[in-house]
Amino acid sequence: MGDLNGPDKVSRIEFLRQGLSRLASVALGLVGGLAAFGSRRENTVWQIDPAKCVKCEHCSTDCVVAPSAVKCVQSYPICGYCRYCFGYFHPHYDELTSAAENQLCPTDAIERVFVEDPYWEYNIEMDKCIGCAKCVKACEDFGNASFYLQVNHEICVNCNNCSIAMQCPSDAWDRVPYDEPYRLKHEPRQVAELSFESPGKK
Ligand code: SF4
Ligand code: SF4
Ligand code: SF4
Repeated sequence: MGDLNGPDKVSRIEFLRQGLSRLASVALGLVGGLAAFGSRRENTVWQIDPAKCVKCEHCSTDCVVAPSAVKCVQSYPICGYCRYCFGYFHPHYDELTSAAENQLCPTDAIERVFVEDPYWEYNIEMDKCIGCAKCVKACEDFGNASFYLQVNHEICVNCNNCSIAMQCPSDAWDRVPYDEPYRLKHEPRQVAELSFESPGKK
């Protein structure tokens, strides 16, 4: 374990974040399906504006796909790698462990991985996430707001009238160009590293 004091600490953490952010692009599962979209829906897809989202439950309950096509996304450059993550731990946790009763997420969709004292990494397991926004709200209220919701275009069937958008209380949904299908908090360099391949469900 190295010395994490002073400038060395800053550089090592920055290095860590940059390295992990590359992994994030893969772990997000945010590979969009461009080829199969063709000219449908005037070459646009639905997406959420994280700045407008008020973290209600409609994204988890109103999608025509089950579980929802809306997933939590982790922005690794923003995350503080906190030992106590507000988005991970239930406010009434017993101890800082991964036991189910200590977690805020109802589906055990957040993986907590030790990096080095006192830093922990938090990864979203897309297949478990239901888009309930509980972690997103807690992270924004008390943390760095590194968790946020996005429509995963590997899953979304691009409904003409998105049933979630019609219920969204904050007008956070609109259509975006199919070749720019995500509103990511990552830096442009990291967005460019996302690969766009054919979707699994089109
Ligand atoms: S329905 Fe709108 S406000 Fe509610 S979680 Fe989804 S995007 Fe956010
Ligand atoms: S708390 Fe909700 S939005 Fe966050 S990872 Fe778990 S299921 Fe997804
Ligand atoms: S467009 Fe359809 S599949 Fe996609 S998020 Fe909205 S309701 Fe779900």
